[in-house]
Amino acid sequence: MIVKKSKNEIDLMRKSSEIVALALKKVEELVSPGITTLELDRIVEEFIRSKGAIPSFKGYKAIYPNVENFPGSICSSINDEVVHGIPGLRELKDGDIISIDIGAYIDGFHGDAARTYPVGNISPEAQKLIDVTKQSFFEGIKYATVGNRIIDISSAIEDCVVKSGFTVVREFVGHGIGKEMHEEPQIPNYRCRTQRARLDVGMTLAIEPMVNQGTHEIKVLENGWTVVTLDGKLSAHYENTIAITEEHPLILTIL
Ligand code: MG
Repeated sequence: MIVKKSKNEIDLMRKSSEIVALALKKVEELVSPGITTLELDRIVEEFIRSKGAIPSFKGYKAIYPNVENFPGSICSSINDEVVHGIPGLRELKDGDIISIDIGAYIDGFHGDAARTYPVGNISPEAQKLIDVTKQSFFEGIKYATVGNRIIDISSAIEDCVVKSGFTVVREFVGHGIGKEMHEEPQIPNYRCRTQRARLDVGMTLAIEPMVNQGTHEIKVLENGWTVVTLDGKLSAHYENTIAITEEHPLILTIL
């Protein structure tokens, strides 16, 4: 069931979403060669808690047996890592790209957003991947208006990515968001014939293209979390929490 939010509830979601946006801004300033993803994680967790919020991802329940719940407050995914990278002692290197996904919970609602950042000087091809991933989000939300269907958003994202010579990850998708981190509906980043629900006022969605440089195929590492590209090529991620209104969608995680 898709849970629609009242105007008042969407206002409450602005708060968690704003904390996520501010945390991402902090990360953007800190990303540089030599910093570890664990340092970024600690700084973000401290920041989120200083605002009275809770990091949504910390302790998130694993879907596989014998896998620990997610230990980080951020997902930090470097180069060929697609999503759900676990923060650790790996230092960022010049030329890397890093995807950071952050969730925060306050006043009963979650906010969720992700960005991919360059570390130092990156290749033109890596920059193009980052740019196209972001662009595909904005192509998608052109259709995030009342009366359109979810598949219209998905199709616009897929077309933008494919036209640029990249591929879309299929196993992980965007989602409704609100009192729960992951609510219905699922929002694939490719044409998925089953996602034909109509968009309506009060729907709050996390739309999040995950875009690969090479094959769309992925695998999950033995830690049960980290998703990587099957061919070892780069992957980028761009996500915002949005709300469907009578007119244009509100992007809650952009300040
Ligand atoms: Mg998400």
